Amino acid sequence: MNPVKEKLLTPDEVPDVEMALRTAVTRYTGGQGYVKCACKTNCTTSRCSCTKKLLKCNSRCHPGRSCSNI
Ligand SMILES: [Zn+2]
Ligand SMILES: [Zn+2]
Repeated sequence: MNPVKEKLLTPDEVPDVEMALRTAVTRYTGGQGYVKCACKTNCTTSRCSCTKKLLKCNSRCHPGRSCSNI
């Protein structure tokens, strides 16, 4: 009988799987090179995720609003 071992195993496995999934998702979206921002002002500073990556803004960034990063 070893209740201590079982107690340690159960909480250990859950975060492990979850983290692996999250890493996979991050890697996948990052690998796509797909960037969009949600700036309220012109996308000219590094606060804009597009400008930060030296990418032009696209129509998905902020539909209906033009910006300087095009
Ligand atoms: Zn932006
Ligand atoms: Zn943008």
